[in-house]
Amino acid sequence: MRTKTLLRRLLGITTLFVQGFDFSSGDLLVFVRPRAKLPRCGVCRAPAPGFDSVSSRRWRHLGLGRPRVWLVYAPRRVSCPTCGVRVESVPWAAHNSGFTHDFEGLTAYLAQSTDKTSVQKLMGISWATVGRIVDRVVGYRLDPERLNGLKRIGVDEFSYRRRHKYLTVVVDHDRRRIVWAGPGARATTLASFFEELGPRRCAEIEAAKIDMSAGYHKAIREHLPNAQVVFDRFHVQRLASDAFDAVRREELRELRGTPEGKDLFRSRFVVLKNPWSLNDGEKKKLREIEKSNAPLFRAYLLKETLAKALEYKQRWRAERALRDWLAWASRSKLKPFVKTARTIRKHLDGVLAYVDERLTNGIVEEMNTRLRMIARRAFGFHGPQPLIALMYLCRGGIELDPPLPGPTDV
Ligand SMILES: [Zn+2]
Repeated sequence: MRTKTLLRRLLGITTLFVQGFDFSSGDLLVFVRPRAKLPRCGVCRAPAPGFDSVSSRRWRHLGLGRPRVWLVYAPRRVSCPTCGVRVESVPWAAHNSGFTHDFEGLTAYLAQSTDKTSVQKLMGISWATVGRIVDRVVGYRLDPERLNGLKRIGVDEFSYRRRHKYLTVVVDHDRRRIVWAGPGARATTLASFFEELGPRRCAEIEAAKIDMSAGYHKAIREHLPNAQVVFDRFHVQRLASDAFDAVRREELRELRGTPEGKDLFRSRFVVLKNPWSLNDGEKKKLREIEKSNAPLFRAYLLKETLAKALEYKQRWRAERALRDWLAWASRSKLKPFVKTARTIRKHLDGVLAYVDERLTNGIVEEMNTRLRMIARRAFGFHGPQPLIALMYLCRGGIELDPPLPGPTDV
């Protein structure tokens, strides 16, 4: 077998000819040219006559053994009837990319399945470069049909850049994947998604799960005529936890410097734990709080009772339990709970819809946890675009077919 043939088979790219190679730098440079005679426009990919060549360019390819491999070629300039004078497209790489499709495919696969440090080390590129590659791969792998047939959606906000910036993410609950993400977390952010969707597809949406506090409600009212708003159970519970914390802080403030205050501070693990996971010593502690600090114990019961009310599977049971809870909380003389009760009463319909819709389940929660992890992982990126691309890559239903070692047919 001739060296050029061997090299072509090792590269694994069918659309090129090998013309020579150079090993003098320690990296393997392979001089190539496209197999097709007629050049194509790099922007629109239409055939276009070429006239001269620009200087040689290099594309990083998958390594062969230890050495790094680069394809070298001087692309032709073409005169495209639509785009004007452009550099031709090369079949082994995306326009304006310094990496081959195979290199980008493997990078995206690693970004999807492993941690930040491993991707950078294995591919020998920076995290910012990983971000640009992921953005490109997502650009041609994301399902263009993903916005069709949406029935039940969830909208969440994610902070990135250490809580200074926000993204709005829309999840298709039926297919369990992200369908849209955009910078910002206001009603107008979500409205721009609905505008992209158009009135016909908006009308098909039957349920939308959102956070009670977020400004999304307005956008849903204005754009989704047939959707039931559903409030996330975990978010409702978080309101009660926050109210409980406020009561506890108030009690601590009043008892500061006294032995009771110290005791109460030490007991924080007891009141923050789930009641069923308390051991005997902790149960005793809880009984002490009951005797010595009536407001805090009342707040504790309110927090736990709400969690229980939200667990009912039949709507009428849940409604009865919630209405009892609201009456109790409103009369509790604990300001934070009176306020929470007012918020929940105002949104009772959406809170109860949760019981009917069962939109929040383990898999959706897991999706949110994963997205939060991705947002943290993306701290090194510049701007929201690479983060959005990484979210699509990892949770957008993209199945990659990476160029892993195996027999090839070139
Ligand atoms: Zn063109």
